[in-house]
Amino acid sequence: MKLETRLEKLSETMYKKPVKALTKKELCQLLLQLSKDLCEDKRVIDGYRKVYYISAEFLVGKLLSNNLINLGVYDELEEILNTYGFSISELEEEEPEPSLGNGGLGRLAACFMDSIATLGLPGEGIGLNYHFGLFKQVFKDHLQMAEKNDWIEKNGWLKKTNVSFNVTFGGGEKVVSTLYDLDVIGYHNGIVKLHLFDLESLDEGLVKKGIDFDKTAIDKNLTLFLYPDDSDKAGNLLRIYQQYFMVSNAAQLIIKEMKDKGYDLYELDKHAVIQINDTHPTMVIPELIRILTQEEGFTMEDAVQVVSRSVAYTNHTILSEALEKWPLSYLEQVVPQLVPIIKELHNRIEKKHRQDMTKEERAAISIIDGEDRVHMAHLDIHYGISVNGVAAIHTDILKNTELHNFYQLYPEKFNNKTNGITFRRWLLSCNRELAAYLDDLIGTDYRKDATALERLLKYRNDPKVLDRLSEIKMKHKKELTAFIEKNEGVKLDPDSIFDIQIKRMHEYKRQQMNALYIIHKYLEIKGGKKPKRPITCIFGAKAAPAYVIAKDIIHLLLVLQEIINKDPAVSPYLKVVFVTNYNVSYAEKLIPACDISEQISLASKEASGTGNMKFMLNGAVTLGTDDGANVEIHGLVGDDNIYIFGADSDTVIDHYKKADYVSKKLYEKSKVIKEAVDFIVSEKALKVGHKENLERLYKELLNKDWFMTLLDLESYIKRKDEMLADFEDRDKWKKMMLVNIAKAGFFSSDRTIEEYNRDIWKL
Ligand SMILES: *Cc1c(COP(=O)(O)O)cnc(C)c1O
Repeated sequence: MKLETRLEKLSETMYKKPVKALTKKELCQLLLQLSKDLCEDKRVIDGYRKVYYISAEFLVGKLLSNNLINLGVYDELEEILNTYGFSISELEEEEPEPSLGNGGLGRLAACFMDSIATLGLPGEGIGLNYHFGLFKQVFKDHLQMAEKNDWIEKNGWLKKTNVSFNVTFGGGEKVVSTLYDLDVIGYHNGIVKLHLFDLESLDEGLVKKGIDFDKTAIDKNLTLFLYPDDSDKAGNLLRIYQQYFMVSNAAQLIIKEMKDKGYDLYELDKHAVIQINDTHPTMVIPELIRILTQEEGFTMEDAVQVVSRSVAYTNHTILSEALEKWPLSYLEQVVPQLVPIIKELHNRIEKKHRQDMTKEERAAISIIDGEDRVHMAHLDIHYGISVNGVAAIHTDILKNTELHNFYQLYPEKFNNKTNGITFRRWLLSCNRELAAYLDDLIGTDYRKDATALERLLKYRNDPKVLDRLSEIKMKHKKELTAFIEKNEGVKLDPDSIFDIQIKRMHEYKRQQMNALYIIHKYLEIKGGKKPKRPITCIFGAKAAPAYVIAKDIIHLLLVLQEIINKDPAVSPYLKVVFVTNYNVSYAEKLIPACDISEQISLASKEASGTGNMKFMLNGAVTLGTDDGANVEIHGLVGDDNIYIFGADSDTVIDHYKKADYVSKKLYEKSKVIKEAVDFIVSEKALKVGHKENLERLYKELLNKDWFMTLLDLESYIKRKDEMLADFEDRDKWKKMMLVNIAKAGFFSSDRTIEEYNRDIWKL
């Protein structure tokens, strides 16, 4: 049946009217139903050996455009809809964005699902169906406020299944799960399932004001929020409840599938490889062992052997505060059934190394430490087949520093898998103009083999091509300008330089350093030194609601936005806008419009970053430290097509080792630094902002500055000013854009997944 006929028929069935009479919302629903129908014809990818990717987050983004692209019907549908005066992107505004993730780690999981399906690999994702997900951000009085994010629609993408399991906790609570599936459609390929477990007895009414709710009502609250506030004990316990709920369902699902297919559970490792995305799913190890020993008649030895041949662990951070260590007493309260198993796993390691290690050496690798805390990462490393970092420098730091003791013990387990992004979403969907132009210029091979983008290099001196790339950039800058005016009430100038920093708000990512640059520029302009071309500084970020300093940095940026944009002597040259509720949909609008991609984390602290890859692919030039995947971007594009600054990771690691970094010294030595920092508590700032927040941030920078903002501030200012000057050499800049696009192929998540499969999964 022709697509147009199919659409009309569906419209009659659903709404009893022709397509042309539908409202936007109805049309959006119609397309959703059409994609679901088209999915029915697709094969679910299956196989003898399967990967189960378990993750607390899957930041999938809106699905309509992407699904239509991957189903191969986008262009045809767009043409049909145009004749009715609609466009798909306009209809997609009606679709809510699933709120199932927080940042890079969750977005990575979503890109991986897309690539697994596109490569046709047998795989499934397993996570939770959070009803209010990550909070929705609003600003009041220049402060971040959190609201619940009510994203689930009645006839959305989630498909309720009849799969259900019982999960029992230590407090005697027994809950029943329900499984919802989200189909992930491969690009011109079959489907893989994202399994999202939910709670039958959940009570959305528990949430009263903002995001507050009774944290102890486990049978009603388990899948309300992603990462509930953990600044108190109840919050910590709730996170453990959530994690156990996730992995117990995962373990039961995997074992059920093994049995349904008639496989021998003693051969679990032949049929299943379980990828543990960060430590949140770690309890799947003792849970599988528990089920095998208590319900399937395994000996402890057999269960430990087969499970530890089936799991692999991905490390995402070296920040010690982010590495989960659960007090044994908490686990005793929530999952007492796992505690004897965890102790057994701990004792086995102790016993194994009683001869060949000193007590101190054993302590460094132990699962349960001297303070009775369980190190989840250590459990993963001892009882898994693989430990991978997510960028070359990150894996090196794991091997040589953070996990050095483990690396000596298990060198064969350590491997690197540099992160990637799906080009379907981050090029074909978010930048259709660029994709269409690339099709014309270098053919469509790059859609399947991203390294074919390098063919673009032969046009690096072709003015026609360079101008077209620049035109496409301008088109996106104008669209973003319109969107931001409508949503944030701030009017931008598309001829200005768009300098963008969008990512979670965290001190190590150093948005505060960017803020100090903005203050510096503001003071320069006030002093009569005006930039050649106006600069627009755009931010987007959510701060964890319990992370006080991160919220103070948001406050400072909102205060600067107010002061600068309202100052008629400054705003023609400098503007600041902090966009509300940064998410995937916003990213898809911001990234194609970016000139300068801010990737300014303290060297050694950003494991990889994936935002940096999205920007590069869309023709932005990176201003960054030699950190995470920036290092690999630097290697690919060369010194001439990236702006690197700041202390390198060895220097930083050395400062931590010697504990010799004193921010106040730098502040006292440099006029530029002092002026910028002092402005935070100046009369001007205090008139707009809150004393408490601004003073706290000021003191933090002066007395602690754990992520060494002041160490790099001067080199940051210098490098950024060079970059702004180079922007005026239009030919040079456009050439840099082209080289960045051409070299981005390495960062396709298809490449990453091929490597996971080659080295770890072996599907
Ligand atoms: C890609 C992405 C991230 C990760 O950004 P980083 O700069 O790598 O930290 C976070 N949030 C959203 C919505 C993203 O799309």
